[in-house]
Amino acid sequence: MTSTGLSMDVRTTAKRTVLISGASISGPALAYWLHRAGFAVTVVEKASAPRDGGYPIDIRGTAIEVVRRMGILPRLRDAHIDSRHATFLDADGGEVASVGAAAVAGSVEGQDLEVRRGDLTATLHGKVRDDVEFLFGDSIGTLDQSSGQGVDITFRSGRQRTFDLVVGADGMHSHTRESVFGPEERFHRYLGYCFAIFTMPNTFGLSRELMMWNTPGRAAALYAVGGDDELHAFLNFHQPEPPFGALRNPDAQRDLVATVFADAGWEVPGMVNAMREADDLFFDTAGQIRMPHWSNGRVALVGDAAYAPSFLTGQGSSLALVGAYMLANALATNRDHTAALAAYERDVREFVAMNQALVDNGAATLFPTTARALEQRNTMLRGLVTMPSAPARPAHSALTLPEFAAMP
Ligand SMILES: Cc1cc2nc3c(=O)[nH]c(=O)nc-3n(C[C@H](O)[C@H](O)[C@H](O)COP(=O)(O)OP(=O)(O)OC[C@H]3O[C@@H](n4cnc5c(N)ncnc54)[C@H](O)[C@@H]3O)c2cc1C
Repeated sequence: MTSTGLSMDVRTTAKRTVLISGASISGPALAYWLHRAGFAVTVVEKASAPRDGGYPIDIRGTAIEVVRRMGILPRLRDAHIDSRHATFLDADGGEVASVGAAAVAGSVEGQDLEVRRGDLTATLHGKVRDDVEFLFGDSIGTLDQSSGQGVDITFRSGRQRTFDLVVGADGMHSHTRESVFGPEERFHRYLGYCFAIFTMPNTFGLSRELMMWNTPGRAAALYAVGGDDELHAFLNFHQPEPPFGALRNPDAQRDLVATVFADAGWEVPGMVNAMREADDLFFDTAGQIRMPHWSNGRVALVGDAAYAPSFLTGQGSSLALVGAYMLANALATNRDHTAALAAYERDVREFVAMNQALVDNGAATLFPTTARALEQRNTMLRGLVTMPSAPARPAHSALTLPEFAAMP
């Protein structure tokens, strides 16, 4: 049967459909750019609304240009935390050094941003919520691309739909990655630390500052991001092997943290008690995702799902924002998805590798695991006190964004 001119027109002008799994940072950023490029975008998120909470996150270097092009830079500048200083303490709570917060974070003062994670997520969601379809409280159940014409999705809710492309933006423990590429163990590079983050009452009178206590292999931090009533509490410890048994068991996580910090000084006993009560405990291992390829057929990954760099680099959100821009641009430039996904990898991989390498060679300097390394770190911190600000890290700005392409 010969196609009529009309059906050809309908086919060639029909919008390409994309399903994005995950509505945190990389997901809504990708949705924004794909919508601009003329795609019909659906975002599915397993939580019932955009998830708030988490430690403040950094936006630096190339990622600043992404948020500027999205028109949300002024809003994020208003949300910038602008911490004053970070004070480092020894085992007994005595001061080791007090330094400018930007110098410790490796950020360029006046240029890079630090915002509450929830503020960034809400800003991104607000930017796209009227233009793309959001399915909250649902997730991908099964994914089948064997037809070669699209990806057939059965959602956990039971609804079934077919999309031209699917992108996993569902974080470090991505379900999309597991369905298409295999178990996380294949791609996870454990960096030797576990951490617990939670909020607790600010009974210390702290304001826009960080206090960090260290002994070899252990760190406890209190972070007041404003003059708030609440503090972000952070307990981080060295653990040679990942505690697999505790990863999906909040009670086991609390017990593990309490055991590790049992004899700790300063305010740590009160922090451990607060952790026991916290209803927003976020516990995870510090690790990276390293994959040989970020796509398979019509399914691609973005952000932490593809290349989590770990909180030790402070670059997770920046890679997510830059990766989303570059993936959307590649899909906007190349009508053929295979060519587009190859271009995405080709153009972003070096940037990712440079940022993941920031913690190679024991560069997790804030969390030394031996007494000698802790002394070296303290000497380095005392040196920072006299420096006006830290030099920009080349990795943060190592990618120059292309102009955003229109659909071919
Ligand atoms: C609640 C929360 C708190 C965080 N706190 C910190 C922190 O304190 N410090 C830090 O360095 N990083 C934290 N992160 C991670 C940080 O946001 C990421 O490193 C980075 O911003 C990359 O973002 P992403 O969008 O690629 O992945 P993520 O921010 O991890 O987002 C993944 C999203 O996918 C959703 N999701 C997961 N599985 C599914 C599924 N099967 N179906 C549908 N949706 C799914 C999640 O609910 C989440 O919204 C946190 C993430 C979350 C979700």
